[in-house]
Amino acid sequence: MYDEQGHPLHLIGVAFDITERKRMEETLRASETKLRRLVDANIVGIIVTTLSGQILEANDTFLSLVGYTREELMTGKLSWRTITPPEYQQISDQVVQELRQYGVCQPIEKAYINKEGKHVSVLLAAARLDETTDYNICFILDMTEQKDLEKQRELLIGVISHELRTPLTAIKGNLQLAQRRFQRYIQNSQASSSLDSSSIAKIEVSLEQALRQIRVQERLINDLLESTRIEDGTLAINRQPCDLLRIINETVDDMRFIRPTQALLVEVPTQETIQINADPGRIGQVLANYIMNAFKYSPEDRPVRIGVTIEEQEVRVWVQDQGPGIPPEVQPHVWDRFYRIPGNKAHNGESKSFGLGLHICRVLIAEHGGQVGVESELGKGSTFWFSLPR
Ligand code: ADP
Repeated sequence: MYDEQGHPLHLIGVAFDITERKRMEETLRASETKLRRLVDANIVGIIVTTLSGQILEANDTFLSLVGYTREELMTGKLSWRTITPPEYQQISDQVVQELRQYGVCQPIEKAYINKEGKHVSVLLAAARLDETTDYNICFILDMTEQKDLEKQRELLIGVISHELRTPLTAIKGNLQLAQRRFQRYIQNSQASSSLDSSSIAKIEVSLEQALRQIRVQERLINDLLESTRIEDGTLAINRQPCDLLRIINETVDDMRFIRPTQALLVEVPTQETIQINADPGRIGQVLANYIMNAFKYSPEDRPVRIGVTIEEQEVRVWVQDQGPGIPPEVQPHVWDRFYRIPGNKAHNGESKSFGLGLHICRVLIAEHGGQVGVESELGKGSTFWFSLPR
């Protein structure tokens, strides 16, 4: 058979075969060089293993991670099975199964036992080199530092929640009891006659001051715990059908109790309820945070206004104060973790803060599918708002 130009067709076929094979060989060589470069770069630990356990090749990063020498590797006796702690054997079996079935495995967290017998935490991802052999390439990332940090953080959270919060709750309970008893005591005419009115006032003031300090500490501890929960992804939100107006009224009542001296003006629609699907505790927490900030940063003789705007798709709650206002260039940052506007002073000894409150608010509202924002002009006060889908 001949082609249109008169060349025998089978020869062209052979020529094609040869060039194709050459190209394939070149591609293979190129990818082998690339792979070798990756292994030698020692960015992550890399090993070539069999599915049954033998480690055929390893780069320096892996060897230093497990503490074995290249000579020990060359004996051919190093096996990932024997350096895997018993509690990780099962997950390793799953990896082998995944590799057999799909050729790749999802990254897993596991550990190796190094030569000194200590556990090293790693993140491992693997792929089969080809379908005909049982050779695999595994990428191993040292996670020791991260694990140490995680342990320290867990320890810290434990200390915060137990060692700090528990005694604080007890102190607060006792103080509140003392305050109530004292009020009952001074209502009794006999007692008030034996104590002069200035002594009574002094005791009342110190009890109130102690309680205020405790509330500040309680808020700081809760902020820290909430922020670690956000980082861990363990923040709990329990959405349910609820009435936004009721949440606003209850929060405002609590706030009036905390700061009876500052006027809180509520402007809500005349309707009886605003039904939303949300976690009432969390929405109350966000509103309380906005109001507390308004208290903290605006003069006590200026009222704080709270309102609701209902739109077709969403409902917006806002808190307006007549405080110092926030410069436009820092407005986006007030939602950042640990951000505080330099020189922005709070009153009443409430300046102790971590700059976490608004960050937590933003996360909580985002979890509800809503948005947060602030409108503010320097010297004219600020309006913080959040919206929720209806
Ligand atoms: P903090 O616990 O420090 O108050 P927030 O996250 O609640 O942290 O607020 C971040 C910063 O934003 C505050 O430190 C303060 O400087 C500023 N800020 C918050 N609310 C107001 C407000 N109503 N008026 C002026 N500045 C505010």
